[in-house]
Amino acid sequence: MRARTPVAHNRLVDVLVIGGGVIGVACARELALRGASVTVLERDRIGHGCSYGNAGWLTPSQATALANPSMLFKSFRWMLDPESPLYIQPRLDPPYLRWLIEFLLASRRSRFEPATMALVALCKASVDMWEALAARDPAFRSFERRGLLAVYEHQSSIDAAVAANELMARAGVRVERWSAEQVRAQEPAVIGPTVGGYFFPDDAQCEPYEAVRVLADEATAAGVRFVEGAEVFDVGNTAHGRREVKSTAGVFSAEQLVVATGSWSEQMGRMLGLRLPVIGAKGYSLLLPKADPHPSRSIYLIERKVAVNPHHDALRIAGTLELVRNDFSINTRRVDVILRGARAMLRVSPEPAARSVWRGLRPCTPDGMPVIGRARGYGDVWIATGHQMAGLKTAPATGQLLAQLMSGETPRFDPAPFRADRF
Ligand SMILES: Cc1cc2nc3c(=O)[nH]c(=O)nc-3n(C[C@H](O)[C@H](O)[C@H](O)COP(=O)(O)OP(=O)(O)OC[C@H]3O[C@@H](n4cnc5c(N)ncnc54)[C@H](O)[C@@H]3O)c2cc1C
Repeated sequence: MRARTPVAHNRLVDVLVIGGGVIGVACARELALRGASVTVLERDRIGHGCSYGNAGWLTPSQATALANPSMLFKSFRWMLDPESPLYIQPRLDPPYLRWLIEFLLASRRSRFEPATMALVALCKASVDMWEALAARDPAFRSFERRGLLAVYEHQSSIDAAVAANELMARAGVRVERWSAEQVRAQEPAVIGPTVGGYFFPDDAQCEPYEAVRVLADEATAAGVRFVEGAEVFDVGNTAHGRREVKSTAGVFSAEQLVVATGSWSEQMGRMLGLRLPVIGAKGYSLLLPKADPHPSRSIYLIERKVAVNPHHDALRIAGTLELVRNDFSINTRRVDVILRGARAMLRVSPEPAARSVWRGLRPCTPDGMPVIGRARGYGDVWIATGHQMAGLKTAPATGQLLAQLMSGETPRFDPAPFRADRF
């Protein structure tokens, strides 16, 4: 374990952010706006990790903690089904088994509900911040607040959703229950069987990589320096209490570090002597030609767990959650399940192949909550990771919260649910 620096900083001079996904970029921008000199080290290209091709939903209505009592038993049943939307890879690896046990414990309703309330608050603030960004910068043209329609095929599923949507309403999310007739009248794109839906009018959507680019442009304008192709492989101390970070693009040093390495945070934590239990959960997204009729808003095909985001010139569909650590292989069977699911419910182009298939690793903590705050026992190491299925929709407020904590401002949100020293 490395020497620790138990010094409280609230002076922002120079900061190295490791990881240039949407979370690292959002943190860097907020820090630079507070006068810090910020460098982002990204081993690949900015925004080309999990932030690149996700579903593009900015939906507080779906910002639930991953450890969810309603999914718990289904997930074990689904372990045996090669086509299930949720897959937990069985493996005898002690840190992974510990993660699974912590996940089970966090799935209790008493923990899930307050966690979800905190996540929804972070998400609602973020969607407002994305909207403000779109108003400032016409390059963010894909941002639209057209709502999300959750479509149900079975009465038992829609009945089972009542409690979850009551929780959302308590968290301040506007919710409307639609009959099957309303679904068909309001959204003619739904051609498959349905018993009705829930509509969330305040939810928004965008093209995810465009969002990262626009945010990175603002960060650059605020003075952030981005270094691509800089993979960090070692972190140490210098004689002057500064951190020395060795990367494939050279050695950097800074007074403070922000770890924003998404699904690779466990390894980064090890370099620092920290336990950061973040496991990759793989998902796919496919870009297809426009549907006919093309949906007029985002749609969630509930039973199939397929997310639909209609862009102006394409249809994005996304799905599956496979807890696989960093396995990046493409499982054709699961990709086909997403495509079949969309075809069963929407009139998707008969063109056989998707225009593109993308996969990403969602950074998942065992309690399904992001980690935002100072690392346990350190004065100069901060963490912003573990945003699971919600990194895009919570990025701006994550950056704001972290920068507020680092600069000693009163945080806009209660930081307790996101504490970095909880593991
Ligand atoms: C199919 C799918 C659909 C999704 N849909 C949505 C959605 O609709 N809405 C939503 O909000 N979220 C969604 N998500 C989740 C969202 O994509 C993630 O939560 C988010 O992208 C996480 O951002 P991040 O910056 O933490 O991670 P990343 O974007 O993965 O960024 C981490 C970066 O760190 C870099 N890095 C790692 N190790 C090092 C190192 N040693 N040195 C330097 N750099 C390093 C990586 O190269 C990477 O660029 C979806 C995810 C998937 C897979």
